[in-house]
This record gives sequence, C-alpha cells and structure tokens, in this order.
Amino acid sequence: MKEFDYVIIGGGCAGLSLAYELDIHDKLKNKTLAIIEPRKEYSKDRTWSFWKVSPHNFDDCVQKNWKNFSINVTGKTNHLKCDEYPYQSIDSGLFYKKINEKIKSNKNIFFFQNLDGINLRNSFIFNSVPSITKSPQDLWQHFCGVEIETQKETFDDHIFNLMDFDCEQRDSVHFFYTLPYSKNKALVETTWLSNMNDDSQKDYDYQLKHYLEENLKINNYKIIYKEVGAIPLFYPSYKREKNKINIGTAGGMTRLSTGYTFLNIQEHSKYIRENINNISEIDKFKIDKKYQYLDEIFLRVLKRNPKIMPDIFFKLFRASPKAVIKFLSNKSNFFEDLTIIFKMPKLTFIKALFN
Ligand SMILES: Cc1cc2nc3c(=O)[nH]c(=O)nc-3n(C[C@H](O)[C@H](O)[C@H](O)COP(=O)(O)OP(=O)(O)OC[C@H]3O[C@@H](n4cnc5c(N)ncnc54)[C@H](O)[C@@H]3O)c2cc1C
Repeated sequence: MKEFDYVIIGGGCAGLSLAYELDIHDKLKNKTLAIIEPRKEYSKDRTWSFWKVSPHNFDDCVQKNWKNFSINVTGKTNHLKCDEYPYQSIDSGLFYKKINEKIKSNKNIFFFQNLDGINLRNSFIFNSVPSITKSPQDLWQHFCGVEIETQKETFDDHIFNLMDFDCEQRDSVHFFYTLPYSKNKALVETTWLSNMNDDSQKDYDYQLKHYLEENLKINNYKIIYKEVGAIPLFYPSYKREKNKINIGTAGGMTRLSTGYTFLNIQEHSKYIRENINNISEIDKFKIDKKYQYLDEIFLRVLKRNPKIMPDIFFKLFRASPKAVIKFLSNKSNFFEDLTIIFKMPKLTFIKALFN
C-alpha cells in the first residue's frame, strides 16, 4: 500500500486550487501529495464568475472583466456600475491547464484515478466530493448555458446582464444571465432557483432558443459551447474527523443566496496553506455566521414567495450596488448590512424570521 502526507480527493476547482496554492508556496518540498481524480482528461466544463473582491491566483485565466451590469424585470431595467469590484469570468479550461502544467513538474505530487492501493491511515485528507442525500425540501440553483457566436455584431460587451426576469417563472424563481465576451460572442444561461422535484423546468434548450430569438431577437447564431449544472443551496453533510477537512462545495464554500463559490474556495485554500503545519489543530474555515443566518432567512422567503423575488432583487441592487456586491461576496460592513436589511419587505422577512 502507498502512503502520502496529504491526499486530495477530487481534482476539480477546490482540489486543484489547493494543490496549486501548496505548490507555489513550497509547502510540498518535504511532503508528498496524492490527488485522486477519476477523469482522464480535462476540458472546459464550466465558467466561474464573481465580483473580484479579493486577489486570486488565476487572473491569467480570466476570459473577461466587466465594470457595468444590468438587471431587468418586465418593463424596467437597472443599469449599474461595479467599477470598484469588477465582475470576472474564469475559463475552467485555462484554469485546469495552468494548474496541471505547473503541478505535474513537482515530483512530490502523484496522480491517481481512485483510492485503490492507497493507505489513508497516516495521511491528512482534503475531500471535495460532497455527501448529498436528496430531500424534496432542498433548494438548488440549476441552469444551462450556451456560448453563442453571431455573424453580426450583436452584443454590447461593456455591460453584462446579471438577471433578466422577463421570462416564464412557473411558480419558481427564473432568470436569464448574459455574459457578452465580445460583440459577437456571449454566454447566455437560463437559471432556476427551485427544489428540482420534477424535470418540468429542464426544457433548457427550448428556454434558451425562445429567449435568444424572442427576447434578444437573435436568429442567426452558432452554439460553440454548452454547460449544464446544479449548485446545492444547502450545506452538504459534514463530519469533522481529526485527519480530514472538506473543501469546495463539500466544505460549505457556497454562498447559499447566490451559489457563488469560486472566491471562497480560493480563500479557503489560502487559509489551509497558511496553517498547513498544524492542520489537524485549526478551526474549521467557514463563511461568516451572519451570512449563513441571513441567507437562511432569504431562502425561506424565496421558497414561500417566489413571485416577489424579481422585485426584491431589482430594488436591492438599485439601493446600493456596492453594498449588495460586498454583502454577496462576504465583505460587507455593519452599515452595508443595514442598507440591505432595510431594503427587504419588512413584514415578509419578519414572518420568515419566526418561521
Ligand atoms: C456548471 C457550473 C457553473 C458554476 N459557475 C459558478 C460561478 O460562475 N461562480 C461561482 O462562484 N461558482 C460557480 N459554480 C459553483 C462552484 O464554484 C463549482 O461547482 C466548483 O467547481 C466547485 O468546486 P469543487 O472542487 O467543490 O467541485 P468540482 O469542481 O466539481 O470538483 C469535484 C471533483 O471531484 C471529482 N470526483 C467526483 N467523484 C469522485 C470520487 N468518487 N473520487 C474522487 N474524485 C471524485 C470530480 O470529477 C471533480 O473533478 C458552478 C458550478 C457548476 C456545476
């Protein structure tokens, strides 16, 4: 049986981010690391987007930055600025390539497709494979996006559309999201916040075609990439063990109100790297309790009152885009939290507060 000082289970976003962070800070000079990842080859399979509120290692994998965004509800559009915290999209294909090229040259890092023949008894384990038991109550953010190319110049690539609620809601919360990479290339996503109890919202191809042709009036386009995904808006079960830490989605790095996870993964990797020498002693890295609590109330409101959500998002961002961006990125101060809380419909939220 082979033994390693560290074992990362799952070489996806969190596993590779951590391996890279340890490698570039020379934390594996006298230690061995095994990465367990079933896929044989990596290719672009998702796009990670977020407001850049803190530095990360992957600026060279950014597909595009935006300093302006919009939100639509039927008949109204908010044009907003995010110049202080630009919105970034990372191409996962570039991310996988950059990390794999770098860490493959470290002779202390080993790659396996499964745990066969590996003795974990004396290793410290970083696990990114979530344990999810599906319950009909749980909320998910599920979506399908297509990157399209048009012959004519079609998009204004200075501004992205965060949420367009001008679409069928089907008793859930549904919006489209458009990231224009250039004047003739954009990622357009149909996104649902719902409990996914049936497949009736998964006619994604129809939704995208209808939106592109009827709302955006684009008829002549080619689909060059497609991504489908579902992000749990609840915490996967987590059993803390002395020689194991969960990372990524499995480690509770997702903001439940938004699904944003990428930057939290980067902050968690940094925290682990800084504490690697006494890793079994450190406190669990968590998204601040205040956000966990407020997200829980927010999702309770969303579950009970899906119809009012487009208006809530619209008004929220209009009040102070900067405060909302900082709040959704776990960086808000007390006054920014208050700005947000006061913008919520009071009675609805008070009811949710008391269950
Ligand atoms: C399509 C998509 C788009 C997203 N977009 C955004 C976004 O824009 N912004 C944002 O902040 N977040 C986004 N997220 C959420 C989150 O950032 C990503 O899911 C991110 O990839 C989570 O990283 P992870 O390492 O936890 O999981 P993953 O990246 O999924 O990595 C888990 C790895 O474990 C491997 N694995 C599976 N089973 C086993 C096993 N039994 N043993 C060993 N390995 C195994 C998988 O092959 C995979 O490589 C998105 C999620 C999806 C699915």
